[in-house]
Amino acid sequence: MAEKIYCKHCGSSYSSVSSLTSGSCSKSPTKRHQPYEGAEKSKYYCEHCGSSYSSISSLTSGSCSKSPTRYHQPYEGDEKSKYICKHCGSSYSSISSLTSGSCSKSPTKYHQPAR
Ligand SMILES: [Zn+2]
Ligand SMILES: [Zn+2]
Ligand SMILES: [Zn+2]
Repeated sequence: MAEKIYCKHCGSSYSSVSSLTSGSCSKSPTKRHQPYEGAEKSKYYCEHCGSSYSSISSLTSGSCSKSPTRYHQPYEGDEKSKYICKHCGSSYSSISSLTSGSCSKSPTKYHQPAR
């Protein structure tokens, strides 16, 4: 496969999952790179704050006040007409409107989109 595998925490790209996971990652809670498992998209949204970026590496280079890792993390699901909070089930028409509301059932206190 010619496709690249991206780390969802720092945006580093590798040619295989095994080479990605063998490296250490300063932005990952596990200190290891973890593969982004979503599809390639024209825009990547942060699953914590809804900011959009054209690449995973530009997304993960910014800091995020709503993320537990303090960096934006790419939403790995597909684009949808409705996004459902995985903690409380509320539905919203966009990731940015979903993440702008607070959620009593979420560990981060904000809604998070289900895949
Ligand atoms: Zn990484
Ligand atoms: Zn964010
Ligand atoms: Zn919620």
